[in-house]
Amino acid sequence: MVERVEQVRAEVRSWLEEHWDPERPLLEWRSLLADSGWGCPTWPDDTYGHGLPAALGPVVADELRQAGAVGPAAGSAMSLAAPTILEHGTPALRQRLLRPIITGEHTWCQLFSEPGNGSDVAGLTTRAERDGDEWVVNGQKLWTTGAHRAAYGMLLARTDWDSPKHRGITYFAFPMRQPGVEVRSVRQMNGYTSFNEVFLTDARVPHDHVIGEVGGGWAAALTTLAHERGLTHARTGAIPPCADGRTAREAAEEAAAYALTYVWYPQRAGRADLVPVRATDTGRGEEPIVRQHVAAVTTADRLTRWTAERARAARANGRPPGPEGSLAKLAASDVARRSAAAHAVLSGAAAMLTETDQPLDATVAEILLSVPAVSIAGGTDEIQRTIIGERVLGLPKEPSTDTKVPFREVRTNKREAKP
Ligand SMILES: Cc1cc2nc3c(=O)[nH]c(=O)nc-3n(C[C@H](O)[C@H](O)[C@H](O)COP(=O)(O)OP(=O)(O)OC[C@H]3O[C@@H](n4cnc5c(N)ncnc54)[C@H](O)[C@@H]3O)c2cc1C
Repeated sequence: MVERVEQVRAEVRSWLEEHWDPERPLLEWRSLLADSGWGCPTWPDDTYGHGLPAALGPVVADELRQAGAVGPAAGSAMSLAAPTILEHGTPALRQRLLRPIITGEHTWCQLFSEPGNGSDVAGLTTRAERDGDEWVVNGQKLWTTGAHRAAYGMLLARTDWDSPKHRGITYFAFPMRQPGVEVRSVRQMNGYTSFNEVFLTDARVPHDHVIGEVGGGWAAALTTLAHERGLTHARTGAIPPCADGRTAREAAEEAAAYALTYVWYPQRAGRADLVPVRATDTGRGEEPIVRQHVAAVTTADRLTRWTAERARAARANGRPPGPEGSLAKLAASDVARRSAAAHAVLSGAAAMLTETDQPLDATVAEILLSVPAVSIAGGTDEIQRTIIGERVLGLPKEPSTDTKVPFREVRTNKREAKP
């Protein structure tokens, strides 16, 4: 293995010596990176990779970092859409859709949740009907983060109403920029607008954009959801600290534009890091109740980080995302709520101030208004507990009455909309 590591390092280094030029336009550089296979080296040889084992991915990333070279684009296109396309997409679809994800030309959004179907996403009623080489899509999605910027959506739509609910769903790589798509932003209670309602009216998607089988979209959806649970925060592209020049500048601009959607995410995680700081700054670090809060938050935060690291280590060793993602996600909700409670105790009534000359007071208000999202986004706490109960503890499955009958017979809040 040591020999292989050195061999890979040497290959990447020599490729970088020949091709890395910090003044190249970002798109030109990322195109070279994509075609060389060094941007995503663990992907297959014929799909912009080198088929390296998972453990060698960080080795290549380290060489890029040391050279000051910018990495492939990141974000939900890379972390959710790409693994799903790799696992379930046809070779033609992989060739067409993955390259612009690496280069950053295409961002993606996730068109799963609907007004009546979030936890029960398999009960979705957005429908797609075949029309020659295309499908025609009608329905409404909700909570779609980043839809206002996305070139493509990971769309789940019902294509068969006579099969049980999990078997009549198809997964599409859905082009967002077309007349049948209307994206309306939703103003959140913390003042930000990172997600949207998406209205689909006779929107079109080519048949060859089906990911997986027609009617077999649930399997691909599970891949996306498993990768989503393993994510604790949005990521932006890898720009080494020592990077300089045009490529790095353009990558930093791209990352800043992407991060606008996620600017409140640190606050939604509760800012456990600020709890001991606030205890000291407010002069209340000696109070027994405050000390208990600080100790509880810090302990939970450390444990959660280690759980997340375990999940990351499992991925780095090539294991598919498993139930540890649900454990990490549930633990993150716990940290966020404990932190918010501690901040409220420390700030008192000032925790409600959004305009104040004490900047941290405004941050605390933002924390209190953002934390509830952690327990909802990517699957609620209750849903994570069900996954842990069934898949980790081996408890009996949750009883259900609607998974074996044709979906047409299942009662939904959109009964009249069924074709
Ligand atoms: C910040 C943010 C970003 C998001 N981004 C996206 C996105 O980009 N794309 C996307 O598709 N979705 C997105 N979502 C939506 C998210 O996945 C859903 O909100 C979530 O799955 C919950 O669905 P719901 O809102 O319909 O609530 P519901 O499913 O209606 O749940 C309501 C309550 O009932 C409980 N409940 C429901 N079913 C059960 C059950 N079987 N057992 C026990 N309790 C249950 C829930 O835990 C919850 O407390 C986002 C949400 C947030 C907050």
